[in-house]
Amino acid sequence: MSTDPLRRAVEALRADFPGKSRSWIKRALLRLGDVREVREDLYVVEGRRELGDWRPLYQVWWSEAEKRWLCTCYYTQFGLRRRRDICTHVAAVMLFRRYKRALEKAERTTVYVAEAVVECRGRISASGEVYLRPDADRADLTFYTSPRFRVLVISRQRRIAVKCGGYVVYEAEGEGVPLAVAKFLVAKFHEGED
Ligand SMILES: [Zn+2]
Repeated sequence: MSTDPLRRAVEALRADFPGKSRSWIKRALLRLGDVREVREDLYVVEGRRELGDWRPLYQVWWSEAEKRWLCTCYYTQFGLRRRRDICTHVAAVMLFRRYKRALEKAERTTVYVAEAVVECRGRISASGEVYLRPDADRADLTFYTSPRFRVLVISRQRRIAVKCGGYVVYEAEGEGVPLAVAKFLVAKFHEGED
């Protein structure tokens, strides 16, 4: 059992939904900073285009009749219910509810994260804190002729650039997340998990 409250919240979510993929858990995690509590049983989650959202806001509420959380994305624009599995808006609310008491103010500061795979023989640098590990699939002889690295960057600025020997080799808009989520992603990155 982990002592990090965020890690415990993620482990609990994994245990509740064992069939869900790592990327599903990660999407829920990326949304953690987008959750606002309206009431104990009603939340608003900001939409993110890069996660496939087409609305600016989603409402997540507890249905006493169904004994489960529901989300506006379960409905069409005409209010018809679409048959849907649990969405990552609801999963983010579940994470938030488990984690909110532990989420200290400092840990809520928004930072930006970006991940990339870059080929580089020189020094890798970026506009922020850089975390590196050899690209796992390439840890063989070819690694020495064309070394590739997985790079995780945590930055205060949204625009993130990764440089190899002083030249920009990757540029992207980072995902805005609370600092606590960024720290969690760094720990996972070091463990070799995406
Ligand atoms: Zn949803």
